[in-house]
Amino acid sequence: MMRGGPMGRGYLTEEEKANRPRVTGKLLKRIFAYLKPYWKQMILILAAIAFSSLLALYPSILTGRIVDALAERKPLNLLIRLILLSLGVTVASNLIGVGQNYLNTWIAQHITFDMRNKMYEHLQRMSQRFFTSNNQGDIITRMTSDIDGVQRVISSTFTSILSNVITLTAALVTMYSRSWVLATLGVLIIPLFVIPTRRAGKTRWDLTRESQACNDEINGILNETLSVSGQTLVKLFGKEPYEYDRYKAANSKMIRLNIRESMAGRWFFMIMTTFSSIGPMLLYLVGGVLMMRYDQALTVGDITVMVALLSRLYGPVNSLLNIQVEWIRSMALFTRIFDYFDLPVEIENAPDAVTPAATDGSVAFSHVDFSYEPERQILHDVSFELQAGKSIAIVGPSGSGKSTIINLIPRLYDAQGGTITFGGIDVKKLDLAFLRRNVGIVSQETYLFNGTIRENLLYAKPDATEAELIAACRKANILDFVESQETGLDTLVGNRGLKLSGGEKQRLSIARVLLKNPALLIFDEATSALDSISEARIQEAIEPIIQERTSILIAHRLSTILAADEILVVKEGRIVERGQHAELVKQGGVYTELYETQFKKAIAAVESAENGESR
Ligand code: ATP
Repeated sequence: MMRGGPMGRGYLTEEEKANRPRVTGKLLKRIFAYLKPYWKQMILILAAIAFSSLLALYPSILTGRIVDALAERKPLNLLIRLILLSLGVTVASNLIGVGQNYLNTWIAQHITFDMRNKMYEHLQRMSQRFFTSNNQGDIITRMTSDIDGVQRVISSTFTSILSNVITLTAALVTMYSRSWVLATLGVLIIPLFVIPTRRAGKTRWDLTRESQACNDEINGILNETLSVSGQTLVKLFGKEPYEYDRYKAANSKMIRLNIRESMAGRWFFMIMTTFSSIGPMLLYLVGGVLMMRYDQALTVGDITVMVALLSRLYGPVNSLLNIQVEWIRSMALFTRIFDYFDLPVEIENAPDAVTPAATDGSVAFSHVDFSYEPERQILHDVSFELQAGKSIAIVGPSGSGKSTIINLIPRLYDAQGGTITFGGIDVKKLDLAFLRRNVGIVSQETYLFNGTIRENLLYAKPDATEAELIAACRKANILDFVESQETGLDTLVGNRGLKLSGGEKQRLSIARVLLKNPALLIFDEATSALDSISEARIQEAIEPIIQERTSILIAHRLSTILAADEILVVKEGRIVERGQHAELVKQGGVYTELYETQFKKAIAAVESAENGESR
């Protein structure tokens, strides 16, 4: 059927209409810069397209000569020569088409390869802020569908425009050179064919979109109500009849749409076939009258050529009517991709970044102010010092800014005011890779890759020996678990570590950080997701580690707090108290309150778990 036909891609959605890209010289230049490295191949493609489009028309012209040869009872030799020539031309044009297709795909793939890599590299340099404020789905769409879109633009839109223009021009020139009356008639017939098919196409497209939306709705209902938690909710609230009605309603809407869509397809097909047969008949009729009455020079072959060429006009005309849509869509694609490229890299290595030979892991905050969003300051004038080999526990109510403080050390974010030093050097002047290599974080939300325990551990130290892996597991109190698995270190952890319990995951991530062997260890203690026994096991693991290296602990449990050399109490982004447990607990301030409400409970829980275990 028609190339780039009217069946779907030919219309802009309301959203696309509202967000028409601004096409500037700068944008075009930028797009061109991606094509430039491949200009030689592009020229070759241009030539191939021009040549194959022209060749593809030639058999239609030869048909005319074959018909004339027959009508005039020319020697058989000539007839055979014409037939062979026609076949040969078709084969040649198709062969060129194959080569052109290869070149096209090659260029499109290479250009998108460059773009994809550049985008990935750029995204990796984006700050934590970018990833927390952007929807992950959007980021992935940019990386996949948008770039695939570019590939489509290069490999198909571009070629189809060119070949359509050439085909159309050449066909019209040939037709007019035979008979201007018939050619004009042919041109006048085109709208008869094009307008109804476009109408039918648009109707069908609208219906398809409607049924897609309906399908999404149905899937939504299924996902919501046929999941374990969804079903529990439905059952507990006795909503079965309601959900059934909702599903039935969506389902019957879908049926109506599907039937209408299928009928629109039939109409579309009917209109198309009717008009494509009316055209040739008209040409035969008018051609016949001309030939018999007015134009002695006109031959049967000429009329045959006209009819053959007429059918080759429809496709290109239809495609070219879609150019504007294709153009807007392509520009929107490029604009979206370039918008991503233009996002500034917020956290970068300073030009004169230093890489010291070693660091002691000491940290000092001096009058640090920080906000995630301009209008809401999170940290206010935070100052503290952590000497090498010592440990600090940060405690405070939920949302007080504890995690925020530690995020500033490896520069996941940059503070807006004050300075932070690591090993005595301002973190903004330190080489980023060096800084991050020397800060190890065991976070609450442990992230494991889908792979084996071994692979997850080796991520921290790719050249670790078996003995080192075992030692790290032992220290992290996870060795017994590993050994209890049939496949030991080669046990799969599942997607994001789903096959492990929360406590096992956290101990595994302690082992991972131990292999990294950072100068500063940051431990973000889980608040409540774990049961007391797992907590106790983590505790056993973490305490000796704290003793032997510089560490910061975001602590929720008294035993962790007691293991630290100093306690910082944070409230609403400020350090409100600091000191040792014994003094703080007597002060009657924030710490005392936390002690009464949180820590005591935790002690009781751990004690009861231990009793339970020993019983
Ligand atoms: P918890 O003990 O519950 O983990 P926390 O003391 O570690 O809490 P933070 O995570 O540092 O608290 O959060 C401090 C404040 O900053 C909170 O009010 C939170 O809503 C806000 N916040 C945290 N992360 C972001 C972010 N990426 N963008 C905007 N605001 C944030």
